[in-house]
Amino acid sequence: MQRIVILTGAGVSAESGLGTFRDVGGLWSRYDLEDVATPGGFARNPRLVHGFYNARRANMRAAEPNPAHAALARLLAAHPGQVTLVTQNIDDLHERAGASPVIHMHGELARALCGACGARWDAPDAMVPEDACPACGAAATRPDVVWFGEIPYHMERIGAALTACDLFVAIGTSGAVYPAAGFVAEAAGHGAETLEINLEPSDTAAAFDRHLHGPASRIVPEWVATLLR
Ligand code: NAD
Repeated sequence: MQRIVILTGAGVSAESGLGTFRDVGGLWSRYDLEDVATPGGFARNPRLVHGFYNARRANMRAAEPNPAHAALARLLAAHPGQVTLVTQNIDDLHERAGASPVIHMHGELARALCGACGARWDAPDAMVPEDACPACGAAATRPDVVWFGEIPYHMERIGAALTACDLFVAIGTSGAVYPAAGFVAEAAGHGAETLEINLEPSDTAAAFDRHLHGPASRIVPEWVATLLR
């Protein structure tokens, strides 16, 4: 029974209306990454950072999963072997399509984290710097997302899945952000077959054995149907 590891990126949510990292005119292009996606940026201007993630959370709550999310949920439920779904996305569209479990290596917009005591809870629609942590009372709350310079979550679990998988599939990710961009080499190094599904060849395309190019909402359901046949 084939063990599969799937890594998704912003491209899987693009057709749900959530902008990718590099979309021209998208939310990301109006802000400097240093300001909104680093611990230093948050220390300098927490109100700006909360405002940025509040806007992204509102977009997420207004968005709907697309056929790619639905197909991956079907695969998780129906594949006779183990399927590990790892996402770089901080949106909740995989879960809302019915996928479980989902490993959020870059955290979740839907969750809040206390920078003082490490408590986590469901994020309200809008967070502000004055919010008190429900556990310790400190006004040190932040979105539970992994910023540049921080260590992604669940790396041990992901590493174990990569070394034991037969097939590694990257979907809608540019291969520009490490450590996720290195997963293909890690899986291939342990003998896995590798497949890239993306709108166009990514930065790490050469590292994959096979490629399927096109919009995720069309290609992913076709690929899942073939696999489950
Ligand atoms: P990226 O924006 O760097 O790359 C997205 C990739 O998806 C590109 O290679 C692009 O060609 C491809 N793509 C675009 N539309 C597609 C479609 N319809 N079908 C298939 N492929 C499509 O995103 P990344 O590699 O995930 O890395 C950027 C970082 O930014 C990650 O950490 C990610 O978590 C974060 N991010 C998250 C979200 C989200 O949670 N929805 C959105 C933007 C950025």
